[in-house]
Amino acid sequence: MTAQGLLLLILLVILVQLLVYAGVGMFRHWLAYQALKDRVGEAADDMAVAGTEPEAPLPGLAWEGWRDFRVTRREAEDAAGNVCSFYLAPADGKLLPGYLPGQFLTFGLDLPGQPKPLVRCYSLSDQAAPDHCRVSIKRVPPAAPGLPPGRSSNHFHDHVRVGDILSVKAPGGHFFLDVTSDAPVVLVAGGIGITPIYSMLAAALAARPGREVWCFYGVRDGAEAVFRDALAGLAARHPGLHLHQCYSRPRPEDVQGRDYRHAGRVDIERLRLELPLKPFHFYVCGPTPMMEMLVPGLEEWGVPPARIHYEAFGPATLSRRAAVPETGLGLAVTFTQSGVRADWQAGSLLELAEASGVKVESGCRSGCCGACQTAIVSGEVIYEQHPEYEVEPGNCLLCLARPRTELVLAA
Ligand SMILES: Cc1cc2nc3c(=O)[nH]c(=O)nc-3n(C[C@H](O)[C@H](O)[C@H](O)COP(=O)(O)OP(=O)(O)OC[C@H]3O[C@@H](n4cnc5c(N)ncnc54)[C@H](O)[C@@H]3O)c2cc1C
Repeated sequence: MTAQGLLLLILLVILVQLLVYAGVGMFRHWLAYQALKDRVGEAADDMAVAGTEPEAPLPGLAWEGWRDFRVTRREAEDAAGNVCSFYLAPADGKLLPGYLPGQFLTFGLDLPGQPKPLVRCYSLSDQAAPDHCRVSIKRVPPAAPGLPPGRSSNHFHDHVRVGDILSVKAPGGHFFLDVTSDAPVVLVAGGIGITPIYSMLAAALAARPGREVWCFYGVRDGAEAVFRDALAGLAARHPGLHLHQCYSRPRPEDVQGRDYRHAGRVDIERLRLELPLKPFHFYVCGPTPMMEMLVPGLEEWGVPPARIHYEAFGPATLSRRAAVPETGLGLAVTFTQSGVRADWQAGSLLELAEASGVKVESGCRSGCCGACQTAIVSGEVIYEQHPEYEVEPGNCLLCLARPRTELVLAA
């Protein structure tokens, strides 16, 4: 055999060895993953029975209706000045009942030129304290040239001052973390979606300082990053916290390793690359495109749906929830008080009402605040996703509902 032939033979043997090694490795990984999936399925059932994650019953509302809160402090949270925290204390001086980290407050704002209070929800952005709470609000710019900027968020930024009184409904919402558990958990935030996620993180580590928590937080650059020092402080104090800040378009002054960990978005590839194989619960809050990519991505990865918890800050219907059959096309909806009849084709009843010129209330547009609750005179509705708000019998939430039968609504 020539020297060249021998060299080729050696290379071939090495190649075959490498292929066998990679194949065995992948097969082992696949076996481990299947075993994990099976264990997760069994564990999910056990845990649901034990009530450890996350089906703890919601406590009753901490107070009925609107309650006055005084603004005690304002604080800018990002270098760009687009996110401001508002610290609130009950105006009656009484202590605050607790809330579950991840829940939100509902505000009723009297704005000039608005016939009725504008209703908006804002997540509580820190762990519960007995004498105050905090929300952190991002200024919403016009969605397109010619449109007005966000009414509530800009009102908060431009007009709400220390000493002002605000009308607030009790904490609510089903997107919350069980801090009594020490099960490993993955928290994923995009942009202003960090508010409930930070609350979960701070509360989880305060309750169980050694808990394994993975936190992925995606923003465009260092100017947009909020709670920077607070997050860094938590990571420094808690070795169980794995903090992964992802900047999709870092500025030249943003330093990798100091200000952020990864250049790029938080996506399913990043999670798969970083996370060990464990039966995690995932909590996701971020902009609609991120959620639409991450939530189905987690399911495809094999995470059972019962372990994926998420909240959107606006109208967001994710594909996993669009399991409702597309029926009802052309069903007639009559709005009795307005004397309007329209045929439903697509979207929510709220969109149908607005497009038909029916004057209806709306707030969060995502089933949280109850502002669009409307009495059903006759007929039935169907929900694309389960509303957070407890709908009163005989009523529906227009923002999430669509007709199941012909409908008559008291609007
Ligand atoms: C459960 C929950 C928790 C939340 N938590 C937070 C939080 O912690 N922090 C936070 O900052 N936000 C949070 N939000 C979002 C918040 O409730 C508001 O939706 C947000 O502040 C925007 O309200 P706005 O009144 O400022 O804007 P809006 O006045 O509702 O306007 C929103 C956008 O619509 C555009 N617009 C206006 N008119 C039209 C038109 N005719 N056609 C098309 N577009 C139009 C505007 O230009 C603007 O860009 C949360 C929402 C929910 C549901």
